[in-house]
Amino acid sequence: MLRDEDRIFTNLYGWHDWRLAGARQRGVWDNTKALIARGRDAIIDEIKESGLRGRGGAGFPTGLKWSFMPRTPKPERPHYLVINADESEPGTCKDRDILRFDPHRLIEGALVSGFAMAANACYIYIRGEFYNEASNIQVAIDEAYEAGLVGKNAAGTGWDFDIYLHRGAGAYICGEETALLESLEGKKGMPRNKPPFPAGAGLWGMPTTVNNVETIACVPEILRRGASWFDGIGRPKNTGTKIFCISGHVNQPCNVEEELGIPLRELLDKHAGGVRGGWDNLLAVVPGGSSTPAIPRSICEDVLMDFDALRSAKSALGTAGVIVMDKSTDIIYAVTRFAKFYMHESCGQCTPCREGSGWLYRVLKRMVKGKANVEEIDLLLEVTKQIEGHTICALGDAAAWPVQGLIQFFRPEMEARIKAYRDQAHRMAAE
Ligand code: SF4
Repeated sequence: MLRDEDRIFTNLYGWHDWRLAGARQRGVWDNTKALIARGRDAIIDEIKESGLRGRGGAGFPTGLKWSFMPRTPKPERPHYLVINADESEPGTCKDRDILRFDPHRLIEGALVSGFAMAANACYIYIRGEFYNEASNIQVAIDEAYEAGLVGKNAAGTGWDFDIYLHRGAGAYICGEETALLESLEGKKGMPRNKPPFPAGAGLWGMPTTVNNVETIACVPEILRRGASWFDGIGRPKNTGTKIFCISGHVNQPCNVEEELGIPLRELLDKHAGGVRGGWDNLLAVVPGGSSTPAIPRSICEDVLMDFDALRSAKSALGTAGVIVMDKSTDIIYAVTRFAKFYMHESCGQCTPCREGSGWLYRVLKRMVKGKANVEEIDLLLEVTKQIEGHTICALGDAAAWPVQGLIQFFRPEMEARIKAYRDQAHRMAAE
């Protein structure tokens, strides 16, 4: 369990002042100039050593991602840092609490990270529905400009750094980094084919790195306390703290910052008051937002909440949006609802995702009632395999994975539903 003194997000619940004076009292903007004076390479090396992996879902090593940016900027090719605050994955609301209750931690992180990548400008792309969060972030940006912490000679470092806030219009796909860049450029939010990757040709064709809010907000604290401190929390290759969003059938849904690799059961019992009706009443848990496969109670017993452990359990940490479902849940219906979401949010560019996500939804809708053949379960699985890995972006995978999880872990429930429908139809026909 995470010690209190190891917490990075000390105002996660908004109990303290979120504005500049309050943030300073909590250690934000503390000696930022000295952090930057270490130099670009030293900052990137420290982040690499800390083992920080992106907190937006994919878990890619952050320091490594930064090192893909060109080392020497050319005047005609400015570098950009883009912060993904589009947080739209169902079950996830961690960045929201950073944005509204700890905005200066993000802004300080933007300056330090931007400097490390030789970026003089940062764009924060925030989902349109986050009105109050956008408002707080803008107030914090204005405060930072007024205090000389960003802008010309930001924080007295000699580095010029501007931050712009951009509100999206509520499309899930704009959380995909290249769709986000398209949207920032004023176009339709449609993912780009890769390569080229954003570090080579990103925003307006310039070298760009897109990072999640939580990732960037961790950076100054890692530099202040040292890579070994961060690396000492969690497990090898799964280091540091993580904000978990616990929702669904628990007694006290909450957001909590914990150690990566905390056992799922401990996470639910210690912070969310346990499963509604007790542990034995648990049916399944979606561990990382709606795109990750739900895992049954037998796996939940001892699975660890980190990238590698959940991958071994045939699911994923994703955004750490933990959705708990007790035995009152119709798991087939729940996955059907996810399928409807992904069908709706598909941008329609690639055929497997555009056609496949709708096909999955329509078949599942029948299966909720049991109006299907048992053989169709295999067909359903086959179609998910035709979608997975055959699309431009990960939304296709996100549509496929929950369905694959349903078939892998809850196939007996699906077969029983189909059989019950058959039996009832036969009975009615006989009558
Ligand atoms: Fe669009 Fe889906 Fe293709 Fe992504 S996978 S580009 S959302 S059609």
